Amino acid sequence: MKYYDKLIFELSKEGRVGYSLPSKCDRCAGTEAIPAGLKRAEPARLPQVSELDVVRHYTNLSQMNFGVDTGFYPLGSCTMKYNPKINEEIAAMPSFAALHPLQKDLPGVQAVYDGLDKALAAITGMKHFTFKPCAGAHGELTGLMIIREYHMSRGDLKRTRIIVPDSAHGTNPASAAVCGLEIVQVKSNADGLVDVSDLKPLLDDTIAGIMMTNPNTLGLFEKDIREIAQLVHDAGGLLYYDGANMNPLIGTVRPGDMGFDVMHLNLHKSFSTPHGGGGPGSGPVGVCEKLVPYLGVNVSGFNGNFGVMLRAYAYILMLGRQNVKLCGKLATLGANYIKESLKDVYELPLPQVCKHEFVFDGLKSGTATTLDVAKRLLDYGYHAPTIYFPLLFHQAIMIEPTETESKETLDAFIDVMRRIAEESVSDPEILHNAPHDTPISRPDETAAARNPILKYWDACGC
Ligand SMILES: *Cc1c(COP(=O)(O)O)cnc(C)c1O
Repeated sequence: MKYYDKLIFELSKEGRVGYSLPSKCDRCAGTEAIPAGLKRAEPARLPQVSELDVVRHYTNLSQMNFGVDTGFYPLGSCTMKYNPKINEEIAAMPSFAALHPLQKDLPGVQAVYDGLDKALAAITGMKHFTFKPCAGAHGELTGLMIIREYHMSRGDLKRTRIIVPDSAHGTNPASAAVCGLEIVQVKSNADGLVDVSDLKPLLDDTIAGIMMTNPNTLGLFEKDIREIAQLVHDAGGLLYYDGANMNPLIGTVRPGDMGFDVMHLNLHKSFSTPHGGGGPGSGPVGVCEKLVPYLGVNVSGFNGNFGVMLRAYAYILMLGRQNVKLCGKLATLGANYIKESLKDVYELPLPQVCKHEFVFDGLKSGTATTLDVAKRLLDYGYHAPTIYFPLLFHQAIMIEPTETESKETLDAFIDVMRRIAEESVSDPEILHNAPHDTPISRPDETAAARNPILKYWDACGC
């Protein structure tokens, strides 16, 4: 049995202590440290372990998982993965971290909001941002509420429908539905881009606007965007930009110049905050000049997740104007390098130049599925790419290297992907049964999602 096979509750020994709090308060002349009225009636059912037990247990657990600090992480649709450590240090400075949420008017805090507002406005071509939304989807809802307010304030009450491409991220139609808008789908053409001929007949005086992601969820730049913007504006609608894929455009192209009126950024995807694991996020919403009066829509009690903004502002200031412009270019170069190096062995349905990410549709030969490839990568020490998303392809493998990986790292990954392609022909069983070297091999993911057992007391029934 390996050490980590035990839960911390199973390591517990009656009376064993890791750390004890003083029972008397020194500063208050020997009175009880915790007033009797605030104490539990019964002690909490916590595991009784030594400090060393705790350190070993959690250090071992942390090494069962994969992290960007231990290896390459080509997960698509998630943009930046490596977040410079200096940004964490700045966000953790007590002068920031110990602030109360109602202290948002302090001059130092205001300077961060104002500075970040200016930087993001310069990067996106928007006029101003609100920092209240706490995630990308929350930003979408905020932006759609702004669009709705705009039409309503003009007495344009018929505009209750919003156009969403079939390639959109699932949060787009979900946010539109929460906002009370009716969703109208526009199709993609054979190149994976919004089909302008399918869009034209949808545009009438019931359309509030269109939501678009550019580059879209296939990693492709919507090159007809100027024409689309003209058509939507001529029909009286507004354009919403889902900025989750802003990474490859930073410093090169601005949504404001493409014709977008409202947008969100995912600071936790493009501007340095670890993304995933349900941690705090930030989805600031920017608007063009004519929508600034609607920026005050109230979507949360406080002014967003300040720690995420600190990281973003530190990141932008640290890189500086010239280096910020390199992020998108390097991310794009890395993605295209991998795509071109593997397209003879993996199916490439959309062969154009991609932006920061691209999609393969499974292996060209052998019986291995995309799931098999993803699982086998774990044996070779790589995190798997995003699989079975986007939904347009049955065996989708979505790869995104980001700007921080060296050519040597990309080459080593390409080698392994090629080796897996060879194995799929020479020894397919090794792929079907992978991974072989991880603490858990193939869990029942549906059961884990539908019926999670998250508490020891539920699992042991004690
Ligand atoms: C991640 C993502 C979203 C949603 O952002 P959250 O911060 O996870 O709410 C929306 N659109 C696209 C294209 C995304 O990749």
